[in-house]
This record gives sequence, structure tokens and C-alpha cells, in this order.
Amino acid sequence: MPTVGVLALQGDYEAHAGALRRAGAGVVEVRTAEEPQRIDALVIPGGESTSMLKLMDYYGLFEPLRQFGLRKPVFGTCAGAILLAKEVLNPSQPSLDLLDMAVERNAYGRQLDSRVVILSGHSLGDGDLEAVFIRAPIIRRVGQGGEVLASYLGDPVLVQFGRHLVATFHPELSSDNRVHARFLAKIGNGSNGAK
Ligand code: GLN
Repeated sequence: MPTVGVLALQGDYEAHAGALRRAGAGVVEVRTAEEPQRIDALVIPGGESTSMLKLMDYYGLFEPLRQFGLRKPVFGTCAGAILLAKEVLNPSQPSLDLLDMAVERNAYGRQLDSRVVILSGHSLGDGDLEAVFIRAPIIRRVGQGGEVLASYLGDPVLVQFGRHLVATFHPELSSDNRVHARFLAKIGNGSNGAK
């Protein structure tokens, strides 16, 4: 059973921990630079990416998490996806720079602050996929190694980059475990496509 760390500084990390356990993983909450040494993969949850950046800096986690992502699988949802992107817009801000993509923060505007939609076109097997968007970013560019697994209104919302995965929605808030299962399936096979 793989041990997955969930960055637990801010945001909805508890929901991720529950989803990962349901999908069959062991879970460790990551708050210090030591925990990444004990995990096989990392989840960066949704929340507020600017606050998470500040807390990562404060707890000395920025470089350890970046180094972890250069070797092991990372799954970022919403704010987590923003933290993984090479390029962040609206406004520009630093990131772990692990995935070749550009994301625009809060890109659906105020009317779409929060919305639950059904994605019918996706690559996660049979059946519709529920997607919960909360002040979500839009992925404006998917660079080399990115494989779009689901889109909404023409924009990618679930993208695999080799061993890494990003979602602009919150799969941890739906009862469907397929997105987490997809991430867990990549742990340990060392496939590439990302930095
Ligand atoms: N709007 C947040 C940000 O820019 C992300 C929202 C979320 O993670 N649900 O960081």
C-alpha cells in the first residue's frame, strides 16, 4: 500500500485524506520538511495558493517539496494545480515550477465562484464525472508531456503529466474515487513526461 502525503498547511486537505484512504492508500499529513522523506507521492490540495505559498516558505517546505516533485508523483487540485504550474497569471506569482503549463487564477469570474458540473467527455472510463469548481483557475496552456483527460467548456480541467496529475476542480469533494485511483495507479511506475 503506497503512503501518500497530503500537504496540510491550509485548504481542504482532510477531504483528500479521506478520498485517498477510500482509494486504498495510507495517508500522512505533511507539515514539516521531514515528512516528504516518508512518502511515496504527494497531494497538494485546493485552498488559497498565495496563503499556501507563504506557509510553505514559513515552514521551510518550498524547496523540499520541489525536490520531491522532481523525483516522485505529485497531484495538485485547484490551488495545488496553481502551485505546480510553470506559469501563473492573474496575477503572476511564484510556484514550484514542476509542470509545463500556464494557469490563470480565478478565471471563471465571480458568477462562477462555485459550481458543480457533470463532465461527460473524459478518459476515466464509463460514466459521467462530477466536477466541483470553487474559484477555479483555467489552464490556458498545456505544454510538453501533458495529456488532457477531461475538459469543461473547451478548457482542460484534468491533465496527466507523466507521473503527475492536476485537476482544476475538487475530486475530493465527490464520492467518485476514479480521479484519486488514477493518481495512485501511477505511483511506483516511474513514468516520465514532466520535469
Ligand atoms: N482561487 C484560489 C487560488 O487562486 C484557488 C481556489 C481553490 O483551490 N478552490 O489560489
